[in-house]
Amino acid sequence: MSLVRLSSISIIACVLALLALCLIGIWSLDRLYDRRDAMDDLIVLKGRADALSVASDNLLLFRPDPAIWRAFVDEAQAVRDKLLEPDDRQADARRAARQIEQLLESLESIHRQQSTSPPEPGVGPLGVPRRARITMNQVAGHGIAIDSAFEQLLAQRQQDINRETTRFVMTLALASAAFGLFCIFAFSWMYRRLAGPTRALSLTIQQLRQGDRSARAAVSGRDEFAELSRTFNQLLEEQQQSERTIQQQETELAGQSRMLTIAGRVARFGGWSLDLHTRVVHWSDMVAEIHGTDPGYSPPVEQAISFYAPEHQPIISDAFNDCATHGTPFDKELQIIRVGGEPCWIRTTGVAVRNEHGQLVRVEGAFQDINERRTLELRLEAAQRMEAIGQLTGGISHDFNNILTVILGNADLLTEELANAPAQRASAERIAQSAQRGAELTHQLLAFARRQPLDPAPVDINAFIDDMRDLLQRTLGGPVRVELALAPALWPALVDGSQLESAVLNLAINARDAMPDGGTLLIETGNAVLEPDYAAAHVDVTAGEYVRLSVSDNGSGIPAEDLERLFEPFFTTKQEGKGTGLGLPMVYGFIKQSRGHIKVYSEPDAGTTINLYLRRAQADSASDPATPADPASPIRGGHERILVVEDDPMVRDFAVRRLERLGYAVVTADSGQQALDVLIAGKAVDLLFTDVIMPGGLDGAQLADRARRLRPDLPILFTSGYTENAAILHGRLDPGRQLLQKPYRTADLAGKLRQMLS
Ligand code: ADP
Ligand code: MG
Repeated sequence: MSLVRLSSISIIACVLALLALCLIGIWSLDRLYDRRDAMDDLIVLKGRADALSVASDNLLLFRPDPAIWRAFVDEAQAVRDKLLEPDDRQADARRAARQIEQLLESLESIHRQQSTSPPEPGVGPLGVPRRARITMNQVAGHGIAIDSAFEQLLAQRQQDINRETTRFVMTLALASAAFGLFCIFAFSWMYRRLAGPTRALSLTIQQLRQGDRSARAAVSGRDEFAELSRTFNQLLEEQQQSERTIQQQETELAGQSRMLTIAGRVARFGGWSLDLHTRVVHWSDMVAEIHGTDPGYSPPVEQAISFYAPEHQPIISDAFNDCATHGTPFDKELQIIRVGGEPCWIRTTGVAVRNEHGQLVRVEGAFQDINERRTLELRLEAAQRMEAIGQLTGGISHDFNNILTVILGNADLLTEELANAPAQRASAERIAQSAQRGAELTHQLLAFARRQPLDPAPVDINAFIDDMRDLLQRTLGGPVRVELALAPALWPALVDGSQLESAVLNLAINARDAMPDGGTLLIETGNAVLEPDYAAAHVDVTAGEYVRLSVSDNGSGIPAEDLERLFEPFFTTKQEGKGTGLGLPMVYGFIKQSRGHIKVYSEPDAGTTINLYLRRAQADSASDPATPADPASPIRGGHERILVVEDDPMVRDFAVRRLERLGYAVVTADSGQQALDVLIAGKAVDLLFTDVIMPGGLDGAQLADRARRLRPDLPILFTSGYTENAAILHGRLDPGRQLLQKPYRTADLAGKLRQMLS
């Protein structure tokens, strides 16, 4: 039953019970009052009876006149009638009535005698004959009897009243008790139906608050409370269902965002948005990272533009303005200068976003670091350019060689034939000499064009260099000291010895030219393995085992802008007649034709290292015990935290990838200053792995000095394109420091790290 109906019923029942209680009370009170009234009547009647009794005595003593007599009789009859009124049928009343009747009879007989006979002599003053005295006694007896009957009657009436009072009190008490019980019942029932479920509901809410998600309100019966509990439970279900849906969506979203982040990280891809109202650009974390700023960095648009290379700033500025004013989308490949100072190629696209009124409010777009691709493209372009030049020069020099052969042959003939004409003979000899020099040039051009005949054979490079020592010292002269650092257990190289000799001579002469005031020429050898990722990042390099021959000097060094053009034929910085610009192209062509690799590290005022990687002669490799790729020496990784400092993003990427593959935690910095900030910030770092040569004011050695001051026992591993000796030679590294030469193998890196960390 519904609570509303139940409570109305109980209210009505309570009112009715209260009414019944009142009625019972009134009824009982009424009965009580009736009894009281009857009692009062009886008392009055008794008074009248008492008066009759007194009067009867007087009537006996004195002869009454008829009127008094009549009044007495009337009164006596009235009292008798009153006693016999139908309500009072008690025996005592009847007895009293009968006594009154008998009293009347006795008095009447006396009255009759008095009225008929004269008073007898000897009769007392009251005139009552002696005979009548018996009657008088009778009258007196009646009077006593009436009195006693009234006494009885009064006592009975009093008893009635007492009984009635008791009944009234009892009835009232019982009715009140019944009403009280009824109220208790109604209250407890109400409690059961209201307080119980309310408490249960609040308990459920408490459980829910404490995290018990399965808690539900108990549903019993079909009243409003059950309905409330059911609705409450339903709401809970709906809420939990929608929570589950939201959670599921959140998980999906988080997954997608994670995937997007991973994709963005791999592709170095991010997003940006320019609010045209505030003119502030919001960068995604990846875009900030590409710029080299902290995550969350949001520069004003002018500042964002200032990140671009000066020659690209007008381009991006125009593109921005066009997009912001006319909604023209853009897609540009441009160069920015990162915070660390190094240039980086990026691709940025932008589209305009309009609001519901069609007004331009935002420009947003994508931003990608394409430096790796772009650098490779540029290298490929350079390689293709070299290839094209090579083909051209190769063709020309081939034909030219033929021509020179004819000239030279005829000049020789003329020289012989003009034996007797010295003046002409000298001319013919000069023709032959010039033709000879021309032939040398074409020879170099052919070498660059990779068109010279080569005769590769296994060569012991250490012995080969040792043999060249005197020649080199003689060629270079006094102020240049020749030093050799030859690695033991060197693999044999597959190379054309005579061509290699002219290549080394060329490099040595360049070194001498770079050290006009003297210096040191350092020639080093060593086994080297170029790994696949190194090969992939360079054009025309095959991964594998090589013999490294490095030629270093501590001369003037080569400016960055010249580095790209070193191998172009006829590129020279030397004055007319001094340089031909064919030395390095010849070395390049020869090394390429020998399927080797050449890498130049140089910086102004420090010196130059040119690494020649010569193919390892395979014939002996199987029997060679010093094979570094020996699978018997397993690569051991670790879990320490390594701070990698490297300005070249590509090289840094390689290092990070390798270290992570070895299990290390990696923190990166793209400049010495940034690395120093990491250390000052107190980040946990177990080893500092830094490039030696870095732009931006703080090179590897300076960083190491500062780092040592901050953390005296921090192990420091240097890496450089220079050989260890060359780095010391260039004053970049103190002797005794640990150096890993680029390009290094994972095994070398792993070994060096374990050796330093344990
Ligand atoms: P050349 O020696 O005739 O100029 P090369 O091809 O041998 O031609 O060298 C090209 C240029 O490279 C040189 O003019 C010089 O500027 C630069 N160069 C080569 N080797 C060195 C070196 N070791 N140190 C400084 N500059 C060098
Ligand atoms: Mg030269």
